[in-house]
Parts: sequence; C-alpha cells; structure tokens
Amino acid sequence: MKKIIGLVAALALVLALGAWAAFRSSPAVQDAVVARAAHAAIARGSQMPAADDSLRVLLCGTSSPMPDRAAAKACTIVVAGGQWVLVDIGPEATENLNRWRLPIARIGTVLLTHFHSDHIGELGEFNMQGWAQGRRDPLQVFGPDGIEQVVGGFNAAYAPDRAYRHAHHDHGKGLMPLAAGEMQARTIAPFKAGEAPQGRRSVVFERDGLVVTAIEVDHRPVTPALAYRFDYKGRSVVITGDTVYYPPLVAAARGADLLVSEGESHALLDIVAGEIAKTGDARLAGVLRDTASYHLTPVQAAKMANEAGVRELVFTHIAPPIPLRPMAVPWLRGVREARPDGVRLGHDGLTATIPLDGGPVRFETLRE
Ligand SMILES: [Zn+2]
Ligand SMILES: [Zn+2]
Repeated sequence: MKKIIGLVAALALVLALGAWAAFRSSPAVQDAVVARAAHAAIARGSQMPAADDSLRVLLCGTSSPMPDRAAAKACTIVVAGGQWVLVDIGPEATENLNRWRLPIARIGTVLLTHFHSDHIGELGEFNMQGWAQGRRDPLQVFGPDGIEQVVGGFNAAYAPDRAYRHAHHDHGKGLMPLAAGEMQARTIAPFKAGEAPQGRRSVVFERDGLVVTAIEVDHRPVTPALAYRFDYKGRSVVITGDTVYYPPLVAAARGADLLVSEGESHALLDIVAGEIAKTGDARLAGVLRDTASYHLTPVQAAKMANEAGVRELVFTHIAPPIPLRPMAVPWLRGVREARPDGVRLGHDGLTATIPLDGGPVRFETLRE
C-alpha cells in the first residue's frame, strides 16, 4: 500500500513539474490559462437574485474608520423589486462590488447618512465605475444639508478624469456621455447643518412601492446625521448610520424586520487606546477615546432593537475591528443577555433576504 501511495505521489509530482514547464515555456499555454480564468470570473455573474419576491439587503462594507483588512468602510445596499439603492460609500467598498460582480451600473441612487469620510470617501470612485460600466443617467446622491458641497467637491475633483475617459471611450457614439458622469446632489429637507437633532422624519422618495424615510439621529457634533428606513410591500429595514442611543430612532424603527446597526465596543476601544497611550501617542489615544461619545455600544443597539420590536439585528461599522473570530466574544459581551435571539455580527458580503410572503429573514454570504 505504501509503495502505491509513493508511486502516485511521484507521478503527481512529475505531472505538476511537466505542467509548470509547459506553462513557463509556452506563451500559447499561458494565454489559454488566462482565457480560462477570465471566462470563469466573468461567467459567474451577479449572485444577487433578481426575482421580486423579497426585500434584500447586502452589507458591502462593515468596518469603522479603524484599519481592517477583511472589511471595507460603511456601505449597505438595499434591493427592492428592480430598484437598487446604496446607503453610504466608504473607502474600499467599490472593490467589493466589483469583486462580487454586482451590476453597479444599475445603482442610480445613493443615500448618505452623514459626511464623515468613512461614509463618503469612495463616492467619486463608485460614480466613475458605474458610469464606465454603462450607467446612462447621472447618479442621484441624496443627503441632508451640505450634500451640494460634498457632491460638488467630488465632481470638481473628478472633472479631469471625466474628460479623459469621455475623450478615450465615447468614440463620438455616446458610449460614455459626459452628462452621465457628473453626479447630481439632492438635498433632503428639512434637516439643517448646525441644528440640534429633533428626531424628525422625512420621506426621501416613494417609487414603485418602495418608501424611503430619513430619520434624524444624534451623532453630534455631526449635524445633520440621518438613519434610513425602507418599507417595501409590508417588509422593512432600518439602517442606523452613526448615532448614540436615541429614542426617536427606536420609534422610527418600530416593527422593522431588520435593523442594520453600527456598533462600537467602548470597553475594547478603551483597551486599544490605553495601549496606544503606552507608546507615547497620547494624542491618538485621545482621538480614539473621543469616538465613544457619539457611537452606539453593541448592548445599546441590542436594547434599541428590543424596544423597537425588530425581528433581526445585524451589526455593521464594527469598532474596534474583530481580526479573529474568538474576539467576537468580548465584542459582544452583554449582548446575548440583552437579546438572546435575532442578533448577529455582519461581515462584508452578508446578505439578508426578507421574503414578501412574511417568512423569516434568511442570511447568506456572497462568494468572490
Ligand atoms: Zn460618523
Ligand atoms: Zn462612521
């Protein structure tokens, strides 16, 4: 038996060496391998189902501003019928969308919760990618007071890029029309910069059965800051954006099927800050500790979910990062006691399918 195993191993080695020699010496073999790999990547297509039988949510970025190799910054997609809506577009998120081969040219609407860099950093890149992949109309970017400045700034920064790409790829045939490359800012009233939050709500749009409502939250000194609620054919999802525990948000999330909530473990963050302080960088330690004043702890989020009577709670904007699975235990400390069921940690690629027939929420993960 040992002899046979040895012979098979030797044969496999000879074959592998032969294949490597053929690959290295033959451009034709190399090209065939490239074509095979490209075909496999392209043929996979989007894994997000198109059927109008569910309200769907995809976490396309789940990290906080702290570095996390496994996760992009803030990004969530809601799909209702044929409508794709993006909520926040933080750094690295566009890469996720492309790797999952999502039809990003179909995403014509972006909602920004607020203008911290981890929520808007990749707006220019996302817009350019959707345009290059065939979007025919300008991206509509909704946000509170200040959205004109943010969108105008990205449009200005990307003006040379738009001109290059139009000159190179349009071929005079309208293949990359300049007008579709420039984003349009849409201000959500009545929230004004500098005003203390008052827990107001405002319908952003109502389209083919999808109602999107903005909810004022408390992320001071960031004003305005918004959460969003999506209602579609009797099912609903609420995305908190960044906020402290805030009773008006609880009221607005009442009865939602899914609450996608930010979470920051202040206890773990304090430990990290303490270690940074030991290196002599008290300034950075202080910056980190400052963030506890305007973010939700996981336990507070669990209590909000309970008070609002939501079915499922999923964490995103996870701070500090959880590099190893066991570290979820201290991050979630106290959460299971507050909310034993219907709670989970999010990760990039997690999808929630909320069936329109009233069935339970299903969770899956997109493959690369
Ligand atoms: Zn923020
Ligand atoms: Zn944030």
